[in-house]
Amino acid sequence: MQNAEQIWSLVEAKQEPFTQLSDRVWGTPELCYGEFQSCAAHTEMLQAQGFRVTKDVAGIPTAVVGEAGEGGPVIAILGEYDALPGLSQEAGVAEHRPLPGNGFGHGCGHNLLGSASLLAATAVKDYLAKNGIKGRVRYYGCPAEEGGAAKGFMARAGAFADVDVAITWHPSAFAGVYEPVSLANTRIDFSFTGRASHAAAAPHLGRSALDAVELMNVGVNYMREHMPSDARVHYALLDAGGIAPNVVQAHAKVRYLIRARNLPELTRLIERVRKIADGAALMTETSVQAQVVSAVSNLLGNAPLERAMHDNLERLGPPPFDEADRAFARKIQSTLSEEDIESSFRRAGMPMRDVPLCDEVIPMDAKSAPMMGSTDVGDVSWVVPTVQARGATYAIGTPGHSWQLTAQGKMPAAHKGMVHVAKVMAGTAVDVLRDEVLLARAKADHQAKVSRTPYVCPLPDEIDPPIQMSA
Ligand SMILES: [Zn+2]
Repeated sequence: MQNAEQIWSLVEAKQEPFTQLSDRVWGTPELCYGEFQSCAAHTEMLQAQGFRVTKDVAGIPTAVVGEAGEGGPVIAILGEYDALPGLSQEAGVAEHRPLPGNGFGHGCGHNLLGSASLLAATAVKDYLAKNGIKGRVRYYGCPAEEGGAAKGFMARAGAFADVDVAITWHPSAFAGVYEPVSLANTRIDFSFTGRASHAAAAPHLGRSALDAVELMNVGVNYMREHMPSDARVHYALLDAGGIAPNVVQAHAKVRYLIRARNLPELTRLIERVRKIADGAALMTETSVQAQVVSAVSNLLGNAPLERAMHDNLERLGPPPFDEADRAFARKIQSTLSEEDIESSFRRAGMPMRDVPLCDEVIPMDAKSAPMMGSTDVGDVSWVVPTVQARGATYAIGTPGHSWQLTAQGKMPAAHKGMVHVAKVMAGTAVDVLRDEVLLARAKADHQAKVSRTPYVCPLPDEIDPPIQMSA
């Protein structure tokens, strides 16, 4: 308890500058691999706090690592700072009001994600120095969580090779420990090439790449009935071949996002989608090339670390929201449907109640719905024992990737949730640093899992981080 009080007060002592950091990043929303200002703000903070800084991690200009401490185990605390397109929104209002500009916005709360993780790492650094304990803490500023799989590329480059334990979190409506379930995924671009021709005068001489894309999509849509029910396939047209209907489209490109429960299932599904692409090319007498853009693994859990993190949450209790926080959260809820709110409780495994903000810690045995999304934390979790908290930072029912989420990203409730989850992460890190048995159990749990199914990085060797995505 004494250790807990000490680490919590070290978090509190520095909450102001880190709240400002979060607000600053909220104000400069940047996309996938284009997070230059956000990464610079995090790098400045690392330097100001006295971390040893490594830039351009894994050859990615917007990835940064700061390290402090000497010897001992290495604790990694992972942060993110990328935003999303189309989610620009004025802060602190409960109506849709995009800001002028490029339309980008922090609709997933990654402004808070990075700042809370850096705050936790700073408190652990201060704790190590104060108590003369051997151990190192690292903050990993990870870009491009939204579709760039940066952590996978960082893991492939060995950035986590000497890490003992990784800790992270994600903004949520509830406070708890994440159930370690997510889907593995791969993004693949299918480029079809045909032959242009006058669509009326010489249609028989043309071969349409756009037809091939349409047939591929139809084929995949027929496959859906016959794939595992928790797999997911989505697509977006990157190139429809042009704007002239009187020209047979000689080129067309479709991006597929394929998700499955684990890598073996994903590999099987990708093979089927590739066959359908080949079939579409065969039918249209076009050719097709497939290019993997990114890939992430599913999450691997770690029971000893999840228990340790949950104990920290239990000691701390829920975030200290007040009446003003709840009043604004109710305003946000008035823009949501009953179904939004109900499904938010259901996903967390909590019974529905008339509360706008989290006021309890999710029990370890809550039957939460498995996460049907994906996260690049998955690849880190295959390389080192990893644990992830949910931090309560927004109104219950707020959909992920929504203007309502952006609107709440600078509110006092978000700041309180951010400081709260920084205490949970820092407390868990201190437990690992002080308790050799816990560290050994976390490693044994991880080893048992990866020895059953060894990790194979889903990113093909020949692809580099798609840093040009930001262009
Ligand atoms: Zn996110």
